[in-house]
Amino acid sequence: MAVPLFDTQTPLSRLWPAIEARLSEVIERGVFILGPEVSAFEREFADYLGVRHVVGVANGTDAITIALRALGVGPGDDVIVPSLTFYATAEAAVTAGATPIFCDVDPDTRNVTVDTVRAVLTPRTKAIVAVDLFGCPAPVPQLRELGLPVLEDAAQAAGASLDGCRAGALGDAATFSFYPSKNLGALGDGGAIATDDDGVAELARTLRFHGSHDKSTFIEVGYNSRLDELQAAVLRLFLPELDTWATGRRSAARAYAELGLGEHCGLPAVPDGVDPAWHLYVVTHPRADEVLAGLRQQDVQARGYYRLPVHRQPAMAPYRAASPELPVTDELARTNIALPMSPVLSGEQVREVVGAVAAAARP
Ligand SMILES: *Cc1c(COP(=O)(O)O)cnc(C)c1O
Repeated sequence: MAVPLFDTQTPLSRLWPAIEARLSEVIERGVFILGPEVSAFEREFADYLGVRHVVGVANGTDAITIALRALGVGPGDDVIVPSLTFYATAEAAVTAGATPIFCDVDPDTRNVTVDTVRAVLTPRTKAIVAVDLFGCPAPVPQLRELGLPVLEDAAQAAGASLDGCRAGALGDAATFSFYPSKNLGALGDGGAIATDDDGVAELARTLRFHGSHDKSTFIEVGYNSRLDELQAAVLRLFLPELDTWATGRRSAARAYAELGLGEHCGLPAVPDGVDPAWHLYVVTHPRADEVLAGLRQQDVQARGYYRLPVHRQPAMAPYRAASPELPVTDELARTNIALPMSPVLSGEQVREVVGAVAAAARP
């Protein structure tokens, strides 16, 4: 039995008639940019997260750039970012005009910590970007005690929580991606910024539309970066499913542990109070690429993420000198293996994967 890495189609199949009906309504209305669907989704997602404001934008990368600028980041500022993340986290800091300073992560949670961030603070540090890596919330409340604005990159964490507070409501602002494979995925690109701060929300709203409130006076050099109506309409249909999908992912993660996966590889650590959204279920093995080859032979889809971590990417060479060595990041980049994970991963599929890892990991 082949087991895919993701399954984005099955959870949506039941919703197809409703999706088609919603899309038809939007098309008949004829309003495609910043209309009633975007406003309604922004309100509904803000209520879900428990924050005052959500601002829809074109994608998760723009969301980070715009949120950083709305937090006051600009040329001459340093922004602390992890290197074990999708490239966009650091790229967006550069687009905002800042210098990314890379920090290391905890070997067990794979997230930034107060200690790894404190190790790279400079007098020019203007903000910290904490990624909720693989869907596990970073220790954002502790990071905020450092006294700098914390932007939570929650692109992978829709549906997760920390001490009963939703991922996306933990920082001074947070960003989401609605890229189709994300936990809350659209049928195309989309993104959002969430914040409790009225000023940050207002500035983000202005920046997403060329720095203008009224389409005639331009007070900032901004972006053309809007969530579109068709995507907002489908996201409004998917949002009520998000918690059910997250529950499905959590039971798959539980099944992996219960069936003894941990005897063959390192399992992700979940700190007290954290309810992860398991965007990816990532294990570690010292011979990761060998294990991956063995899984491929058994028709189990798996892959190593961020094998070349962001601080080692060619385009980040100008910023590398300002960052220290990142031994934990380098080691996790080499040893991680993302195993199949989805809201509908069955017990049979989990058993298949555990058996395949056991066989592939045998010396
Ligand atoms: C997906 C992702 C992004 C970028 O989102 P896009 O919508 O593809 O621009 C940023 N950060 C992280 C951690 C992501 O996983």
